[in-house]
Amino acid sequence: MLADRVAPAACAAVVKADGYGLGAIPVGHALIKAGCRTFFVATPGEGAALRKAIGRGATIGVLDGYLDDAVPAYRTHALAPVLSEPGQIAAWERDRPDDGRAFVHVDSGINRLGLSPADWRALAGREGIAERLGLAGVISHLACADVPEHPQNPHQLATFRAAMAALAVPLQASFANSSGIFLGRDYHFDLARPGAALYGVNPTPGRGNPMRPVVRLLGRILQVRHIDRGEAVGYGAAFIAPGPRKLATVAVGYADGLHRSASNRGHVLCQSHKAPIVGRVSMDMMTIDVSDVPDLAIRPGLAVEVIGPGHDVDAAAADAGTIGYEILTSLGRRYRRRYHRDGAFADEPGA
Ligand SMILES: *Cc1c(COP(=O)(O)O)cnc(C)c1O
Repeated sequence: MLADRVAPAACAAVVKADGYGLGAIPVGHALIKAGCRTFFVATPGEGAALRKAIGRGATIGVLDGYLDDAVPAYRTHALAPVLSEPGQIAAWERDRPDDGRAFVHVDSGINRLGLSPADWRALAGREGIAERLGLAGVISHLACADVPEHPQNPHQLATFRAAMAALAVPLQASFANSSGIFLGRDYHFDLARPGAALYGVNPTPGRGNPMRPVVRLLGRILQVRHIDRGEAVGYGAAFIAPGPRKLATVAVGYADGLHRSASNRGHVLCQSHKAPIVGRVSMDMMTIDVSDVPDLAIRPGLAVEVIGPGHDVDAAAADAGTIGYEILTSLGRRYRRRYHRDGAFADEPGA
């Protein structure tokens, strides 16, 4: 869907942080199948793991750049560093294998990574620089793409356009992250770089989510109990029952990425009904109030929906006072993970 939206520009995929917590390798396989040929990861280690899984047919850009403690990995795994400062550029120019490819990151106003416009102009003016660095493209990153009316968007756009104009030879330009894609054609350039939207996070906050949910997280009820008015629940006795209550203890806690900030504030879906989280979320479990869930079948073993179509990743983020990105990248390692592929679910490869 994103590729169609940006065509004729190409669409890369950002699979850093283990595919935003969902598994860079199964995600990478699915994206290759969907036609993706350029991936971005954060670190050389992530790049090496992805390369081993997907083979040689795609470009893998490493957003952290060219790191001196991982030099052999770029060569062994054909990783393309995204060069963002002069020291990295000099080191890459010296070390680069004959067929080595790289991107350059130009800062257009986020002040996080990227060459300053002045450093970029100096580099872009050097004769034959694209060949010497094996440049596959130039990227820049938006700070406020999720706020379409933010004046920094057109400002960064103008800065990036000027940066591209400084080049003597045309190179692939890449600007838009997920939300940037939805700012319109002007922001698409040659290669979009969505991450979050691929994983179902709403790239247009405050408006309807154009993406479909891709992750569903179920938690198992371990125990059901009834408490009376005045009884306290969980650590710190942070919830006091205002009346008789039916509670269920669910085996998902903050060690599984259910943020503690959702204590006494978030909810899950139990048999499609909202069940509030009561008391503090603890390491391995949380307690939910199922008093208003009209189902006698609430019993140990029943699964409740912590994230899913009825309570999506953005809603779970709002419950915890964070963003969908942090919800996904916090998902713990002890879930049984199953992937939908070719019409069926299968366990994570190797699980
Ligand atoms: C993480 C990242 C992206 C992807 O951003 P989303 O908002 O997840 O689409 C793109 N480009 C760079 C440089 C990034 O760091």
